Order: sequence, then C-alpha cells, then structure tokens
Amino acid sequence: MNRQRLALRFKPYHLQLKNTFTLARSSRTTTPVMLTEMEYNGLTGYGEASMPPYLGESHETAARFLSLLKLDQFNDPAQLENILDYVDGVAPGNCAAKASVDIALHDLLGKMMGQAWYQIWGYDRTLMPPTSFTIGLDTEAVVRQKLRDAAPYKILKVKLGRDNDREMIETIRSMTDLPICVDVNQGWSDRQQALDLIFWLREHGVVLVEQPMPKTAIDDMAWLTQHSPLPTVADEALQRLEDVKKVHGVYSGINIKLMKCTGMREAHKIMTLAEALDLKVMMGCMTETSCGIAAAAQLSPRADWADLDGNLLITNDPFEGLKLIDGKIVLNNHPGIGIKPRDLSA
Ligand code: MG
Repeated sequence: MNRQRLALRFKPYHLQLKNTFTLARSSRTTTPVMLTEMEYNGLTGYGEASMPPYLGESHETAARFLSLLKLDQFNDPAQLENILDYVDGVAPGNCAAKASVDIALHDLLGKMMGQAWYQIWGYDRTLMPPTSFTIGLDTEAVVRQKLRDAAPYKILKVKLGRDNDREMIETIRSMTDLPICVDVNQGWSDRQQALDLIFWLREHGVVLVEQPMPKTAIDDMAWLTQHSPLPTVADEALQRLEDVKKVHGVYSGINIKLMKCTGMREAHKIMTLAEALDLKVMMGCMTETSCGIAAAAQLSPRADWADLDGNLLITNDPFEGLKLIDGKIVLNNHPGIGIKPRDLSA
C-alpha cells in the first residue's frame, strides 16, 4: 500500500534590491527570504518566506521554526486545514515562515488537483486590478529615474511620511497623470494636518491613503476615516484574521499580505470577512520572489487594489512564470500558483 508522506525542505536566500528601499523609518539593499519546497508523490510545491528585518523574522528564526515541523505525520496534502492548523499551533509568531509552508502546500495541492488556485476558488482572472508600482522616498533625480522604470504601469504607489510629502507629489505630477496611492507608513501624527493633506492629495489625483497614522492611534484614525474624502487602508494595523474586527469602523479598507497573515489560507478567510464587513481590500506584498507574488495574485481578482510589485524590485528572482501585461498580472492556468524555478543553464 502506498504510504506517501509530506516532505519539507528549505534554504536561505538573499534578494538583491534594484534600488535602496527607503521607508519613513529605515532603508536597506537586500531582503532575506527562505525558499521552501514541499514534496509528495513525485510532485513539488514551492513556497517562500520574505522577512524584511523590521518585522522581526530572520533566516535563523525561520530555520528554527521550520525545523520544528513534523510534516511526515501527514499523508494527505488535501487535509490542508488540518495541516496548516498544526503548523500555526507549533509556535506563536513566525508568520512569514508559516506562509512559506502554506504557499508550498497550496502549490503542491493545486498541482495534485490539476488546477490553478484562482480556478479552485472560482475567481475570474480578467478582474485582476492593475498592479501599483512603488516609488520610494528619495531625491528628485532618483524619483525621475524610477518614474521612467514605472512606464508600463497604470497606477503608482508613493511612500510619504517625511517632511517633503507635497514636494514628492508635485515632482511626480510634473511628469505623469497616473493615479497615485500613497503609503504613509504611520508617518503622520496630527489628525487635522493629516486631513488637510488628504484633501490636498485628492486634488492631485491620489486615490487612497494607506496607514496615515500610527497603528495605535485608533480614535484619531476613526475620526480621520470618517472625515476623509479618500479611502484609508490599514496595513501595519492589520496582521491576521483576528485583527479585521479591530480595524472595522476605523479604516475603510485593509492591506492583506501573505507574509503577515501566514499565507493563502488565512488571506482567503480575511477577504471573505472583509467583504461581509464592507471593508475594501488591497492585496499587498513585501519584496518577494515571483513565488510569493504569484501566490498573492491567485487571490487578487477578488481585491479592489493590487500592490504586487515585490518581484519587480529585485535583480535575482529564482522563479519565472509571472506575466505582467499592460500593468496587470495575467494569471496563467498552470496548476498550483503557476511558477517554476528559473532555468539558470539556459
Ligand atoms: Mg504599507
């Protein structure tokens, strides 16, 4: 009798960033990731944990967590809920490491079923929102260069939250009329000033404001959302399913990232709950390989906005298969999440 068992492998990898990535609170040139493979009956699923340092995970923590997992106790990948409940319960935190298992298992199971995940979930891939292209905080000359890189995109995402917010937007507006999402990364502290700036941003073609104030400023955020002419989106304020209730009534929408919420299984649940609560949904990402982005893209036809440019910001993507046409990710119908390791011998 066939007694196949699930087998998990993992290896550390460093993503090289095209540009120094500058946020309101930090900057860096590489991102550590852990690449995972799950094998069963001759099929392999691919996964990834992306671990920007400010989130507290690292190659060391991920290796420690993944070493604790005893997946050979499972002999049916279709028991996805049981397997991922077990993984989540092994230790608290470790959300990116958990996502690396979740993504690999989904990829594997999709391959066993012969379907892509957007097909299994019943999503219409033509409803994919355009992917926003991120422009970091920088000097005017660098911003001009990044805007040239952004030429194929239909929507921009601009990082604000320093003292040159209006200048950044004016620089971009002098070169393009594309709609802009802004991400403040908790950078504004005064709600009235924040509201005044949001009205100004709306006049300059901005369509949404992500995490304008600190995640702890709940009353100020609720007030700001109530008065804001633009939707407000929770990013740092929302990590997992249990947080959706907390941001309901405080923000107009949420930014779901697989690395925050432990992967595709929970992201799908968060989306369902968000819809029931009338919260708008953005699918977001960290700097990731095409693996993590392809996994998030499977859910994105159901999202209002897609911010899935993480793989475009790196120079050493070990996967291929993700296509971007006219500024939108075009999902293929390959089973699983639709990517494969890049053939480096070619
Ligand atoms: Mg953000």
